[in-house]
Amino acid sequence: MYFNWKKSTNTEELKIVCNLIKNGEIVIFPTETVYGIGANAYDEEAVGKIFMAKGRSLDNPLIVHIADKKTIYEIATDITTVEQKLIDHFMPGPFTLVLDKTDKIPTIVSAGLKTVAVRMPDNVIARGIITFSGVPIVAPSANISGRPSGTSVEDIRKELEGKVSAIVDGGETEIGLESTVVRVVNEVPHILRPR
Ligand code: AMP
Ligand code: MG
Repeated sequence: MYFNWKKSTNTEELKIVCNLIKNGEIVIFPTETVYGIGANAYDEEAVGKIFMAKGRSLDNPLIVHIADKKTIYEIATDITTVEQKLIDHFMPGPFTLVLDKTDKIPTIVSAGLKTVAVRMPDNVIARGIITFSGVPIVAPSANISGRPSGTSVEDIRKELEGKVSAIVDGGETEIGLESTVVRVVNEVPHILRPR
């Protein structure tokens, strides 16, 4: 299925997309950084489909996308003062914070690590899909692993059409680069992936 939301989000189609996510399917949608392939972060089987579609190595952990800061406390624990300040200051935005994970996050998401990477996108379509799906969504870039990240649907369709249940077209992404990934160690933020 292809949905054109370049001008505005279609409420009926939003329901279809969110039902696909709830039913364990994978869907491509835009964020302000690059396009992502999304799946319910709590559904191991659904997350497995992303690794298959991308040809992604299972030892490469995924970023969990949220629409509401409350969700952070469901998926992460032992948040320190510095981590909380980073959350207050940089979320929503092109910023990913690695935190100690709770048991709600399956092993396949964290690639066996005790941590989880969390991001709150600043994009109406991404936020709408996460909110109405009612679950956090893992969303690595919409490309075959090793290729450039997808920033427009024309490129993405060539590479991934047929491997996902739906593609939501929101036009060119604003930023076009991946988020900065940060981990705090002993209250000092370290950049794990610069932008
Ligand atoms: P992407 O491929 O853009 O979805 O981003 C995933 C990247 O985020 C990984 O390749 C890591 O660089 C980083 N990442 C995700 N989860 C973690 C984690 N638990 N610890 C450290 N880095 C992580
Ligand atoms: Mg990528």
